[in-house]
Amino acid sequence: MSSLNFSCLDDYDPNALPVDRARRIVLDMLAPVAGHERVFVRQALGRVLAEDVISPIQVPSHDNSAMDGWAVRHADLAADGETRLKNIGTAFAGRAFDGKVSRGEALRIMTGAVLPAGADCVVIQEVARVEGDEVIVPPGQRAEQNLRRAGEDLRAGEAAIHAGTLLRPAEIGIVASLGVAEVSVRRRVRVALFSTGDELCSIGTPLFPGAVYDSNRYTLWGMLTRLGCEVIDMGVVKDRPDALENAFKEASACADAIVTSGGVSVGEADFIKQMMAKLGEVAFWKTAMKRGRPMAFGRMHAGGADGMGGAWLFGLPGNPVAVMVTFYQFVRPALLKLMGVDPVPEFPAFPARCVEAMKKGRGRTEFQRGILFQQDGAWCVRPTGAQGSGVLSSMAKADCLIVLEPERDKVSPGDTVMVQLMTGLA
Ligand code: AMP
Ligand code: MG
Repeated sequence: MSSLNFSCLDDYDPNALPVDRARRIVLDMLAPVAGHERVFVRQALGRVLAEDVISPIQVPSHDNSAMDGWAVRHADLAADGETRLKNIGTAFAGRAFDGKVSRGEALRIMTGAVLPAGADCVVIQEVARVEGDEVIVPPGQRAEQNLRRAGEDLRAGEAAIHAGTLLRPAEIGIVASLGVAEVSVRRRVRVALFSTGDELCSIGTPLFPGAVYDSNRYTLWGMLTRLGCEVIDMGVVKDRPDALENAFKEASACADAIVTSGGVSVGEADFIKQMMAKLGEVAFWKTAMKRGRPMAFGRMHAGGADGMGGAWLFGLPGNPVAVMVTFYQFVRPALLKLMGVDPVPEFPAFPARCVEAMKKGRGRTEFQRGILFQQDGAWCVRPTGAQGSGVLSSMAKADCLIVLEPERDKVSPGDTVMVQLMTGLA
């Protein structure tokens, strides 16, 4: 493993690295995992396409009507008055009309039905009138209106979906619409996960005095699983050098990335940081953000003299809220990059009117938890209340993060703030 180039950090104070800058550094260092597999279309949901899906057919496969109406020849229609045409029958979707539309004729046609030879215009049924076996069409129709030509959406041999696309239900449907049964996706990203802390107690065991239950491993497991990662849960690791060293070595040998919580803040047992530094090339950042300032990012070697393999390390703070906020700001985009998503999407964010005052320190980005609602047709947001970084229930109440820029020193009721939508984050 060649040496990591953290020199891009030289211009910045590692004690106050701007959030965007830190995210950029992380993204620039990572490359998608190698390794593809072919899976059936349903198994591809949530996976990332490794090769373009090439359409074996043209879409639509035939000229067809986009509306229920009448297939006519545009040249037959009078420009300045009604035209009487002869009703010659009906074309249904999946049951084409066996014949053509000749001069002076109109064919009743349903949405999706094959356009008969001769016709080059569909007049919607709402404007046409039927009298006996005649159809009366008003003026003002355009040639080619209300019909879809074969190959208009996609030509055979063309890429329907590009490599790097995260496959959601719409893409799964597109794949199926082409009659394609299997696609090539990148292998899942393997993420090893453990919590550090002597005070941590695993669920199912009684709390000893001074202990807290390890919740971070569960929120992280949830976020990683929804992102489509393969999670290797390594449990709680005590703040002991030998235990940590073993955990890091084991994790680096089997995972693409390691996510830990705890042990990176000031005043933490320093050997955790020393251990990270000893086993890899790791930068310790205090990002210029509130809720999640300290974090470690770098590359852990797999152990062994050859230095092959290894894993990216994300050492997150211990506070439960900080864990989630730093995960969304840094780890999620990083994992999307490793998964092969290209381009890595920005967090969905939009302006909203904040209805309550908020205090804030200048010089750093603050992430507050917010609840969105609509008032007079506009999106508004209110903070969840207690914003302590240990208050995980505030994260559960929230559906967005309110992002307060470094320059801002307060929020007054009615001010516009940016919010990052957390709803439905996969
Ligand atoms: P640390 O960053 O290790 O100093 O932890 C900061 C705070 O987060 C402490 O109050 C810890 O008890 C708490 N904490 C650390 N790890 C966890 C965890 N895995 N689950 C819940 N709380 C934690
Ligand atoms: Mg700790």
